[in-house]
Amino acid sequence: MAVPLPVHHTFTYRVPTHLADAVAPGKRVLVPFGRRRITGYALGRPPQVPEIRTVKDIADVLDETPLFPKSMVPFFRWVADYYLHPLGEVIQTALPGGLVLAELSLYQLTESGRQAMAKEHLDESARRALAALDGQPSKYAHICKKIKDDLPRSKLNAWVAKGWVDHTVALRGQYTRPKMQRFVQSISFDRHNVRLSQQRQNILTLLDAHGGMFVSQLKTHIPTASNLVRAMSKDGQVRVDERAVYRDPLGSPIDPDHPPQLTVEQRAAVDRISPALGKAFKTFLLSGVTGSGKTEVYLHLAAKALKMGMTVLILVPEIALISQMERAFRARFGDKIALLHSGLSNGERFDQYQRISRGELRIAIGARSAIFAPFERVGLIIVDEEHDDSYKQEGALRYHARDLAVVRAQMDRSVAVLGSATPSLQSAYNVQLGKYEQVDLHERVDRSTLPDIVVQDLTQLKEEQGLRRFITPELIESMQDSLSRREQVLLFLNRRGFANVLVCASCGEPLRCDRCDISLTYHKRINAYKCHYCGFNRAAGSCCSRCGSSQIKRLGLGTEKVESKIQALFPEARVARMDRDTTRRKGATVKILKALRDREIDILVGTQMVAKGHDYPHITLVGIICADLSLSMPDFRAGERTFQLLAQVAGRAGRGTSPGKVILQTYNPQHFSVQAARNQDFGTFFRQEMEFRKALGYPPFSRMIQLRIQGKAKDHTAAHAKQLGRRCSELLRVRNAYTNVSLLGPLEAPLPRIAEQYRWQMLIKSPQVKPLHSLVRELLM
Ligand code: ADP
Ligand code: ZN
Ligand code: ZN
Repeated sequence: MAVPLPVHHTFTYRVPTHLADAVAPGKRVLVPFGRRRITGYALGRPPQVPEIRTVKDIADVLDETPLFPKSMVPFFRWVADYYLHPLGEVIQTALPGGLVLAELSLYQLTESGRQAMAKEHLDESARRALAALDGQPSKYAHICKKIKDDLPRSKLNAWVAKGWVDHTVALRGQYTRPKMQRFVQSISFDRHNVRLSQQRQNILTLLDAHGGMFVSQLKTHIPTASNLVRAMSKDGQVRVDERAVYRDPLGSPIDPDHPPQLTVEQRAAVDRISPALGKAFKTFLLSGVTGSGKTEVYLHLAAKALKMGMTVLILVPEIALISQMERAFRARFGDKIALLHSGLSNGERFDQYQRISRGELRIAIGARSAIFAPFERVGLIIVDEEHDDSYKQEGALRYHARDLAVVRAQMDRSVAVLGSATPSLQSAYNVQLGKYEQVDLHERVDRSTLPDIVVQDLTQLKEEQGLRRFITPELIESMQDSLSRREQVLLFLNRRGFANVLVCASCGEPLRCDRCDISLTYHKRINAYKCHYCGFNRAAGSCCSRCGSSQIKRLGLGTEKVESKIQALFPEARVARMDRDTTRRKGATVKILKALRDREIDILVGTQMVAKGHDYPHITLVGIICADLSLSMPDFRAGERTFQLLAQVAGRAGRGTSPGKVILQTYNPQHFSVQAARNQDFGTFFRQEMEFRKALGYPPFSRMIQLRIQGKAKDHTAAHAKQLGRRCSELLRVRNAYTNVSLLGPLEAPLPRIAEQYRWQMLIKSPQVKPLHSLVRELLM
């Protein structure tokens, strides 16, 4: 078994005979551990049985049914091993939070339990416990208190199994139920012999056409439907029952759709991929330009997989996109779909997780953590927008969900489909190596051409003042054109806030965060200087920390300033903003996207949140205010990110019938990432970027592990980093296995202090991953 503690190995316990039936892989067990008793996860039989006298007994089995299938154990082990993370903590990360913490079991004596008490030979303690269970459904702890003793869980579970005790699971707090609504179906009766009002006839026609409808849906056609249905039900003309409705996150009902005729390219893609289903492990890279209809390919593949009796897992980078994907899947497959993402309450997530475990739901859609969905075996794994950074988890257990998708597919001998208009270098390289098979979609579905991309050189605006320093006359003119045609405009700037360059007007000192040594950003709405790294706020009236002057110049630009300047420039237009500041509240993102879809917004200003795969047909102009921000990041992937971001934002334009236009403003018009994005030319970008990576020995030509050393005390942190560096160099010198490994650093991190923590880093690099793993294990010892 594994314990959720920072220990890297697993533990072996003996199963006493009275628990032999209760224990199973995937269940939680209570075990003695040092002087305490703790909860662990049962994994299975150990490969070798250690000598009996060193092994302790399991104290109890806590679950009636496993929390995860046994088939996932090798996957968890792989994750623990590859990401150098304790196995028990990997499993804890994989399980929905509420599952363990908020679960509430209630027990109650049944009638057959009462009979057993009368008839069976039971010892005194069992009799007392059963008596305590007679009454209201009670918590385990409550029963123990009543009998003033520990009631073994295994005993209780055995009684549950025998039917003596009833067990219900509730969730503390937010237990959510499906929303129920009245569903109407027509009943066959002789319609010619009954005089029906026009209204009633209309209802029957609608019901026949849709094979039944919710009253709420009927009401959108016939406002008085509610009363009419009641009367018709009385007259035996319709049947009404309660059914669970699944709310469309965008607020409107989802009508079932019919698969459209696939385009020639889509058909070819489906025909290439689907024969692999159910055969052996295989990974496809579905590389399709923006608007080429990748979702429809996923839907067809999913339909095939379901037909073959398999399960389907779809990963989507973020919540706003999940609702779009969910819409498409619900319209096609109805309510058989599980949703897994952080926007759900623990209760909702637990519910979804359980329904997958029980095999009730065979499709799951979710963000990165959905890669741990408890399917016994996944038949098809789809990773949409596979290049997206949000698949990478940076906290606690660090993992990349796209990579894990491929690993899981391999273990389950299934098919993985990675889709993107701008594939990651890593995936494109894997195609070159023959590990993945590439399938292309070159054309947009409606054959609309990709938008026209015009590059504007921002260095020409250096002499201008105010807004004209940041927005070229061409962009303003194009905005006017679009607005006059009642089309929508998207403005993209990858920086939020109002002004991000704050300097003292009298001494020139920049205004920095006290806790991070990083420049602050002015936020107008809250009238404060804010740190984007630690959340620190300082009142906008603050003075220069060097000379005490109160004159602080606010230069630079963020989405908040763009929004307010644009509103001033186009007072008639409805301007909205989408960034981390405006989407903090639950549901806010979806609200903005809905307003965009309903054309209640003329101009949307946003950060990279607007760049991702949304499909809005009325956006005809995309303005990229400054393409360079992501280029200057201290990361070897900066060029790749910039290319992806620019090509993706550009892809939001011209998805409907009117052609799209993109104005890309930049200080580096000649940079190859900018040029490649302009030409929507992944091939050229790929070749150039790969040359650069190869020359510097960066991934995908090597593997790297970054070690970060951080602490509150400046000198101590530095000393520790240097000591670790010396130990590392020493190991590299003495061990032959590490001849291919190189060490960079230790150095101060590019952001040397965040939230009062000093940060140092070391990079170790090697063409192979194995020596890196063993080196880090040695360092950790
Ligand atoms: P991508 O994800 O490749 O950028 P989408 O999957 O969002 O593209 O598809 C773009 C649009 O084309 C969507 O509105 C979708 O409904 C539509 N579409 C996709 N396939 C077809 C088809 N075969 N026939 C008609 N419309 C389609
Ligand atoms: Zn800070
Ligand atoms: Zn000053």
